[in-house]
Amino acid sequence: MATTECIFCKIVAGELPATVVREDEHTVAFRDINPQAPTHVLVVPKRHIPAVDALEEADAELIGRVVLAGKAVAQQEGISGAGYRLVLNNGPAAGQTVDHVHLHVLGGRQMHWPPG
Ligand code: 5GP
Ligand code: ZN
Repeated sequence: MATTECIFCKIVAGELPATVVREDEHTVAFRDINPQAPTHVLVVPKRHIPAVDALEEADAELIGRVVLAGKAVAQQEGISGAGYRLVLNNGPAAGQTVDHVHLHVLGGRQMHWPPG
C-alpha cells in the first residue's frame, strides 16, 4: 500500500482527525475509534512500516520507542498500577486490519487469557 493511502499515515500527517494523546519525534498515540477496553490507544511509528513482519534490524530502536511510548501512555492514562496489555497484531490470522504497525495499549478492565 502506498503511504498516501494509509489511514495511519494520514493521522500522523494531521490529514485525518484523531484524538491524539501523545506525540514525540518518532511516534504518535491516538485513541482507537472502536475501543475494546475503557482505555484503548494505538501507538504508531511516524514512518510507514506495514507490519511487524516488515521490521528490519535498523528498526530496532524505533520499535523500542513505540513500546516505551505505550508505557508512557499507560502511565498518563492511569492504568499502569492496575496493569495493561500491549498487542501487536501481525497479518490476517492475528486480525491485523490496518497495514501500518500499531501497538494497542489496552487497560481499565481485567484482561483475559488466552486472547480470542
Ligand atoms: P488491528 O486489527 O489492525 O490490529 O487494529 C486496527 C485498529 O485500528 C482497530 O482497533 C480499529 O478500531 C482501529 N482503527 C481503524 N480505523 C481507524 C481510524 O480511522 N481511526 C482510529 N482512531 N482508529 C482506527
Ligand atoms: Zn502508514
